[in-house]
Amino acid sequence: MQSEKPYLLFPYRFMRFNEDVLLVNEAGEFIFLSEDDFARLLSYQLETNSETFLNLKSKHIVTNSDPTLPIYLLATKYRTKKSFLNDFTALHIFIVTLRCNQKCRYCQASSEDETKTEFDMDLYTAKKCVDMVFKSPSPTIKIEFQGGEPLLNFEIVKYIVQYSEKLNKIHHKRLEFVICTNLLAIDEQILRYLEGHNIWISTSLDGPKDIHDANRITRKGSGTYDIISKNIKLAKEKLGNHRVDALMVTTKNNVSQLNKVIDEYLKQGFCSIFIRTLHPFGRATKEKLGYDVETFFENYKKALTYIIQLNLDGVTISEQYATIILTKILTPFPVGFVDLQSPAGTGIGCAVYGFNGDVFVSDEARMLAKMGDHRFLMGNVRRNSYEEIFKGTVTQEAIENSCVESLPQCSECAFQVYCGADPVRNYYGQNDLIGHRPTSEFHQLNFLVIRHLMELIKENNQDIMNVFWSWITNRSIDEIKGLNRG
Ligand code: SF4
Repeated sequence: MQSEKPYLLFPYRFMRFNEDVLLVNEAGEFIFLSEDDFARLLSYQLETNSETFLNLKSKHIVTNSDPTLPIYLLATKYRTKKSFLNDFTALHIFIVTLRCNQKCRYCQASSEDETKTEFDMDLYTAKKCVDMVFKSPSPTIKIEFQGGEPLLNFEIVKYIVQYSEKLNKIHHKRLEFVICTNLLAIDEQILRYLEGHNIWISTSLDGPKDIHDANRITRKGSGTYDIISKNIKLAKEKLGNHRVDALMVTTKNNVSQLNKVIDEYLKQGFCSIFIRTLHPFGRATKEKLGYDVETFFENYKKALTYIIQLNLDGVTISEQYATIILTKILTPFPVGFVDLQSPAGTGIGCAVYGFNGDVFVSDEARMLAKMGDHRFLMGNVRRNSYEEIFKGTVTQEAIENSCVESLPQCSECAFQVYCGADPVRNYYGQNDLIGHRPTSEFHQLNFLVIRHLMELIKENNQDIMNVFWSWITNRSIDEIKGLNRG
């Protein structure tokens, strides 16, 4: 430490935040300072016995003693935050068919007609894909079946499950399965199979009947709400409530009616919702179902207020996007959400296996290929080795260009530790892997949502904080209150 200075500053990023200044260290610990205290901190005039200084010291932003221990502690916290990098690819998405019995107006996968079996994954390719998956060093392997509609090629789903289970007798990994299905073709026999092999269901529900049926239709054009409502109930009865999840897509049809969507989720027995934006791929671009970031954000804020109030009124429901960001802000732990991490999960957190064995860095990369651009194709399981696919230039470029620590604007952003990068969306939207933050919707949306959550945290309303901690820890509010009482 330089002797003329009373304390040492560790690395941090800062941002003007209303009347105060927000400081965030490398591990995501944060503090709000008044402008005056911030000026005093920078000019080394903070009293080292003041409360402000001690708070800064406890957050590892300053030290007035031997820095060895705080640097060690900071490094440990940083390592924990980045521990998602330890294990390499855990999520493996199998596109077992491009065929679908629905033709949703926003379909990102641009699905094929039910009769076109040439778009099904065959046995040989399925075997090669599973062999590739088990080369991943990750102790957890999650295989997610997507399409098209995976139930239309259920024999291959069964083969993949059983072959994976067989290989896992040698590899002893934590093996999980999820099937992403519109539930149209589900029946008792399929549900028995899913139950027997501990396969979870992720389905789609966009809201009550009028909203859901506006976009989610069969190939003949009729709405699917009635049948999927019946089948959600059936699936929950057979598999248990916790093993059936649903996702919604926000379009211009439901963006201003999110409260109705939330009510529908509660009516169908779900206790969480992920208010997701529309991704601009496939049919979604042609059908003009989009909206601007401000419209989404204003409605998202209202929906979040509504969900918080529901919790305060004794109804259990969480919002998953907020929960992911709150976990990043309020805990030292990584969340394993590949869409919001640095470097991006492209290839190293998630890989997508097309019906023909092509391997992509992400689902969006596969959708881009369907639109004719194979920029993010890592290789093919039938032709390439594991090393060629996962250590090739496509993966390396995606990783290299998605470290927020070195991206323009992100590198100085106080929200950096809570955010991430998406090189595929940058490439698609801005023709550049690095992207241009001032005009990036990914940046605009994450910035607004993180800032809003930070504002709520800064207010420090105990009731709201109890709701947030109940989401983060998956506990009831009463349990959180009990923990607060000590
Ligand atoms: S994308 Fe935006 S909000 Fe996120 S770290 Fe970069 S500059 Fe900050």
